[in-house]
Amino acid sequence: MSNESLANLLKEERRFEPPADLAANANVTAEAYEVAKADRLGFWAEQARRLTWDTEPAETLDWSNPPFAKWFADGKLNVAYNCVDRHVENGLGDRVALHFEGEPGDTRSITYAELQREVSQAANALTELGVQAGDRVAIYLPMIPEAVVSMLACARIGAPHSLVFGGFSADALATRIQDADARVVITADGGYRRGKPSALKPAVDEALTRPGTENVRSVLVVRRTGEDTAWTNGRDVWWHELVGAQPEQHTPEAFDAEHPLFILYTSGTTGKPKGILHTSGGYLTQVSYTHHAVFDLKPESDVYWCTADVGWVTGHSYIVYGPLSNGATQVLYEGTPDTPHQGRWWEIVQKYGVTLLYTAPTAIRACMKWGDDIPAKFDLSSLRVLGSVGEPINPEAWIWYRKHIGGDRTPVVDTWWQTETGGIMITPLPGVTATKPGSAQIPLPGIAATVVDDDANEVPNGAGGYLVLTEPWPSMLRTIWGDDQRYIDTYWSRFQNRYFAGDGAKKDTDGDIWLLGRVDDVMLVSGHNISTTEVESALVSHPKVAEAAVVGATDPQTTQAICAFVILRGSAAAEASGEAESAALVEELRAHVAQALGPIAKPKRILPVAELPKTRSGKIMRRLLRDVAENRTLGDVTTLTDSSVMELIQAKLPGAS
Ligand code: ATP
Ligand code: MG
Repeated sequence: MSNESLANLLKEERRFEPPADLAANANVTAEAYEVAKADRLGFWAEQARRLTWDTEPAETLDWSNPPFAKWFADGKLNVAYNCVDRHVENGLGDRVALHFEGEPGDTRSITYAELQREVSQAANALTELGVQAGDRVAIYLPMIPEAVVSMLACARIGAPHSLVFGGFSADALATRIQDADARVVITADGGYRRGKPSALKPAVDEALTRPGTENVRSVLVVRRTGEDTAWTNGRDVWWHELVGAQPEQHTPEAFDAEHPLFILYTSGTTGKPKGILHTSGGYLTQVSYTHHAVFDLKPESDVYWCTADVGWVTGHSYIVYGPLSNGATQVLYEGTPDTPHQGRWWEIVQKYGVTLLYTAPTAIRACMKWGDDIPAKFDLSSLRVLGSVGEPINPEAWIWYRKHIGGDRTPVVDTWWQTETGGIMITPLPGVTATKPGSAQIPLPGIAATVVDDDANEVPNGAGGYLVLTEPWPSMLRTIWGDDQRYIDTYWSRFQNRYFAGDGAKKDTDGDIWLLGRVDDVMLVSGHNISTTEVESALVSHPKVAEAAVVGATDPQTTQAICAFVILRGSAAAEASGEAESAALVEELRAHVAQALGPIAKPKRILPVAELPKTRSGKIMRRLLRDVAENRTLGDVTTLTDSSVMELIQAKLPGAS
């Protein structure tokens, strides 16, 4: 963003007040902002009391060696005890912790008492395998209860886990095992994906042939699909044999608040994955508080469901540590939203009476594309708060979510955060904030964020620039595993004493924050910095468009020209199949963007496509589209969900054979 701050083009005037009953009974009210503003550290010290400590911390923040923070450093606790045992001790052992729904339709409900027994057994098993506090354990599992149990078992014995998403290849797994120097890998024979068993263990076998993985002594294998699996005697152990034979008691040990809890590699949308390190006390404090505040969780009556995979940070913080530390009852679903039919999610909401739902814009846009009639077939009246995370949510997708899933009744909370922040940072609160479709709006109580220009000056309301966090927060990353210098360079060098998130943002005239996409994706058109998000949102606001991805392609006249790839909604795709119809639609869409945002934002080219390239976590990968738009050879496609998507897109380009 060299010449000019990010242009502020999108106008969104719609507002939605919190429902009166929710506001009247909300866990967190407007007062929290005042309390935290008056004494930020005191506020977090108070939130830390949500947890059960073996040694209560006297100190809140040690920031004497920035950017290396220590939170609650003299406190000691056991994270797994906080997520499981204490609920059982409080008489809640019979409460369901997990309603597991397998993709083939098998189900299992696990109470907190059962979870305590399984986590204890798994902790004993890891100890028998020689895992000690501080040893790293790689977890490469489908979305099955053993994934949650494994994470908690590691936490219980102080062995940092490193989850690798089950959709990643042997290569990606090997790199992560090497970087973390893992000692044990927990995996499964396979999982179910789109109606079929999909093997996992072969990728582990292959990864462990690579140099740098020799320190892996054991592979603990869950039997999920029952398919044949190659076996390395002396190294491979069945979960049901080893874990099942362990005593059901295990005494949790208290660890320092700064004891490492996990390493998680960022999804790699932009480059070499970074091993983000999170520790115990501060992390658990913030995920527990934010889950309580942002979802207004009432653990005795709510049924919560986060559709993320446990392999992403959203799964760590808002399936495992946040909800379980709060004693929540939740759904855990193994499969894809359209197996065996496109209403599967809504069927699950109806079946379990889900009240709080947390998902990603990519899923919401897919549902928009499939059509309004699908969710309409199910009873979704139990829902009371809807959350979104992962990408900016286009205002039209937000409205669709509220209307077709939330019955035009539920608040939608658009939560901005990152693997690095560990927990939610910027979001409306469902009982407090009048929401604006497409905006994450305000930092949570105790969080300090703003938008700055190139010279690190805070921008005035109505202007755009870079999102920065101006004060340390409890669940912040502590470093990049094994690379303190990269931690400093990546996050703390661009603006002095401020954390640079890598995202563009603007403040509207009320001072609310709107995320505008990654800084790397911002386009420079005739001297104006234009956000990809805003142009995409303008396209999605056209009734025929379900999803859009926009990139800036090098252009001799305007530096960059806006090039858009769009997925059409339902019947619009068929209607635009002829050449003349397609050309007419493209003109209609160009005019629509010009009308919504101004002529500067009018795309030079628009290409209707069937699919967009996405990362495994469902985010649009714009750099590949930039390669296409500039007729370059494609960059690395290995983290794509489906690499054939790129061939289809290239084939559509004028001049392609
Ligand atoms: P990598 O850092 O390896 O490129 P990643 O950034 O996709 O991967 P995550 O940490 O999962 O990995 O994602 C965080 C990013 O997702 C944020 O920096 C932001 O760009 C985007 N994001 C998440 N939630 C929101 C939101 N509510 N609104 C806008 N953007 C969001
Ligand atoms: Mg990132």
